[in-house]
Amino acid sequence: MTLPIRYTIIPARPEAHLYRVTCTVEDPDPSGQRFALPAWVPGSYMIRDFARHVVSIRAESRGRPVTLEKLDKHTWRAQAVAGPLSVSYEVYAWDLSVRGSHLDTGHGFFNGACVFLRALGHESAPCELEILRPTGARYRDWRVATAMSRKGAGPFGFGRYVAADYDELIDHPVEMGEFTLASFRACGAAHDIVITGRHRADLARLRRDLKRLCEAHIRFFGEPAPMKRFVFLITALGEGYGGLEHRASTALVCSRDDLPREGEPEVSERYRNFLGLASHEYFHTWNVKRIKPAAFVPYDLDRENYTTLLWAFEGITSYYDDLALVRCGLIERKDYLELLGRLISSYLRTPGRARQSVAESSFDAWIKYYRQDENSPNAGVSYYVKGSLAALCLDLLIRDQTQGRKSLDDVMRALWQRHGLTGVGVEEDGFERLADEVAGLRLRRYFDDWLRSTRELPLKTLLAAHGVAMELRPAESAQDKGGAPARTKATAGLAMLGIRARTQGDDAGVTHVLEGGAAQGAGVAAGDVIVAVDGLRPGQAGLDAALAKRRPGERVVIHAFRRDELMTFDAQLGRAEADTCVLAESAGAKRLRERWLGPRRG
Ligand SMILES: [Zn+2]
Repeated sequence: MTLPIRYTIIPARPEAHLYRVTCTVEDPDPSGQRFALPAWVPGSYMIRDFARHVVSIRAESRGRPVTLEKLDKHTWRAQAVAGPLSVSYEVYAWDLSVRGSHLDTGHGFFNGACVFLRALGHESAPCELEILRPTGARYRDWRVATAMSRKGAGPFGFGRYVAADYDELIDHPVEMGEFTLASFRACGAAHDIVITGRHRADLARLRRDLKRLCEAHIRFFGEPAPMKRFVFLITALGEGYGGLEHRASTALVCSRDDLPREGEPEVSERYRNFLGLASHEYFHTWNVKRIKPAAFVPYDLDRENYTTLLWAFEGITSYYDDLALVRCGLIERKDYLELLGRLISSYLRTPGRARQSVAESSFDAWIKYYRQDENSPNAGVSYYVKGSLAALCLDLLIRDQTQGRKSLDDVMRALWQRHGLTGVGVEEDGFERLADEVAGLRLRRYFDDWLRSTRELPLKTLLAAHGVAMELRPAESAQDKGGAPARTKATAGLAMLGIRARTQGDDAGVTHVLEGGAAQGAGVAAGDVIVAVDGLRPGQAGLDAALAKRRPGERVVIHAFRRDELMTFDAQLGRAEADTCVLAESAGAKRLRERWLGPRRG
């Protein structure tokens, strides 16, 4: 019989942001038990070295101290002992993100990867976790929310929880505090919505809309749901956006204004973004949490896990997140086409799409996508954005070539049957082989073009075949995200400097200098602070206003500080490219369009 690894965690000093954790191994490795903290958290492909937040650590056995030797940045080895071995340590938790851990006198949140040591060689042993209430009257009303199974703890209570192994232990994030709770059932599975932070959300509406969304996803892959219970752990802030997927829960950070207000009948743009985020993370319950790349089976928590398939796991998930909203009627078709138009615009505004393929972008996620810098738009492409558009092309191509008999939906369901339900990882070429088989087509040359080259995607042709007209126009301003027709007729071409900037007081701080643009040609660099264009300060109206009356080809003199040195640049303004996408339903191909987007409602 495998003895369980026992953990306790207590928010010991919320005011100092310290959890105290103990890990006890009954039958430690006789040659000296090793313990390690993960270098990364699955779902967020970046080395984060959580061990840097371990503040103090010691070990004991039967009441006597045991020596701990540190072997590398995140591994410790205890002196050999015969009996039960306990390691106790404090973890500093002050990262209010879905990937970290956080603790103050208001609430606590943690990912197991940040706080629980892995007892090497005991990874498959069951884990018992005791979550203890912090001491003090102010914590009297705190509750606990997690998708981990209870073993003694009451519903939403402190106490004992259990996980089948270490992998499961760290896949159930935990929230504690005085949160808002709402519940619903979707296809028989219990779902909880837990909201931390001040908010005035319309809970009845959230319940109704999320239920509709969850049922759509469950039915897409086929009932029953792969989990008995699911928890949405939502942190509402002034400003924030992010999500991390788990097998039976998701941690979301959003702005409190993204949540629906009572008496607000329509789906606001902000609420639409929130629904898209919830949809994305929920779809991951199948795609990446159960259908996994072979490179993640099992995860190697000590180092980077390389795969060229993030385009499929993140890109396809991104494709279905908004598509599910229109298919289940939470948003209208014109809203979906607006979102898709914006996505295509953001893709076309990334010069790096000519330099990095989406397979390369997936592989290098660890050092590029997750470590963006001022040159990122010039050097690379997002596997979310291009991956999603490659998924769109693949879906439309299969629909077109099979006269609507097959689609990417069928490929996803086959992946679920073949890999999700069996736990067999998807090999690097596995997705493509299965797509060929399910569609009955030879798709190799499309995959070569769309995934492994930087050739442009045939978006316009494929959309046209499905009754959607795609038009490109120049941007009207830096705020123009695309997706909608131009507001003014004068689209002859805005004069462009070729930078991205943010207002800094009355000046403009250059964040990115785009490849081939006027600013780059003149010598402007990221980090420069533009204090004048032709002798005038940009002011609160910003560079857009300063350039509004200029024409492409005109010259302007730019004064900017680089560090503390004033520089002068002579730039010849460029012309805004037609990189802003507008989509609209066209007359033909009604049958294919309805099969793709679902029938028009109401
Ligand atoms: Zn994702």
